[in-house]
Amino acid sequence: MARKDISSAMIVCLIATFAGLAYPTKIQCSSYEDVFVLGTKAANQAIKRLGTGYGERILLITNAGHVRIGGMDSSPVLDALVKATGATQGKGNLLSLHDAPDKPLFFFFYDATHGEAVYIESQGFPGTPFSKEAFEKGLLALSQKPEVFEQKVKDKVFGGNEFRLLMITWLWDRGISMELRNAILFHDHFCPGVTSGYYIAKYLCNEFPVSKGESYYIIASPPYCKDDALQAILNATVGKRSMAVIPLSESDMACLSAEAKDAAGIYFRYNRKEKKGNGIVLGFLWDRLRSAAGFTTGRKASLTDTLKLTQWMIEHEDEYKSYIRVIKEIPLEGGLTPEDFARPDVNPYLKLGLWEGRCSQ
Ligand SMILES: [Zn+2]
Repeated sequence: MARKDISSAMIVCLIATFAGLAYPTKIQCSSYEDVFVLGTKAANQAIKRLGTGYGERILLITNAGHVRIGGMDSSPVLDALVKATGATQGKGNLLSLHDAPDKPLFFFFYDATHGEAVYIESQGFPGTPFSKEAFEKGLLALSQKPEVFEQKVKDKVFGGNEFRLLMITWLWDRGISMELRNAILFHDHFCPGVTSGYYIAKYLCNEFPVSKGESYYIIASPPYCKDDALQAILNATVGKRSMAVIPLSESDMACLSAEAKDAAGIYFRYNRKEKKGNGIVLGFLWDRLRSAAGFTTGRKASLTDTLKLTQWMIEHEDEYKSYIRVIKEIPLEGGLTPEDFARPDVNPYLKLGLWEGRCSQ
């Protein structure tokens, strides 16, 4: 055993983990100190490898705070990283990325001055050696070298996290807004779909804002990455019944009327007290955007295409309005509520006259 001071709490945790009780369990596995030590060890190792000092221009990305390590809450790692590096959530250079509890705990350190990165992964109990360690030079330049980048993804140099780590680092280096950061951390990666949700959120806030007493009600149909951005930015979540999700299959998509082919959801602003509000069906013009970005439509996108398209969308984020259009305005009259468009037996597009006649027979 690498560490000699294994506490009785840790032994209980080990037994619980091997007995399959790691999560969820009422057994106390809250060894703050042990997990803190693990975070400090990872930070010190990375700092040594990068040759960087406390408080220097550094970015840390981790899934600590979301995954379990040896059955324990990994959140103390975040405190350790703050203490060892000076990076903080408030400064925006300590990012805790959404992940499933059973995923391996990872640490990613990026030294912006030298463009170097260290990736560390820990799968075991705190105190056991790290399961993966990697070092990369010229990280951001990888987005300009498609073959090298795609090979690194195949080789899983960062444990399968290559795309999301490279993309988030690129964005952070450029400057990232609070809204987009929240969207990406919740969605767990940065992609064209989540960026389109960021565009739509901007559109709603500027062109279709809620006034006092109103709140948004969103019908995510068809749902895709954008809806995570909308939930994270507007706090219009499914659980709080501010968003209804209605999937559309490929054949359903073919049933949307010609004017609604680009449909990217139905958006209401509604005052529940006064029972007043209105809605809009929005379209997202992916074909126009892809062609403006220099991509041929219809071709299957490679990983590099996805990366370049996402970057292009950020470089042109001020032009968001050019890629969103109002397909239809919805006055809520005669006691209609937003929820009337999202009941189990209601097809909102049919109700709005945006459904091909041949599909409704
Ligand atoms: Zn996505």
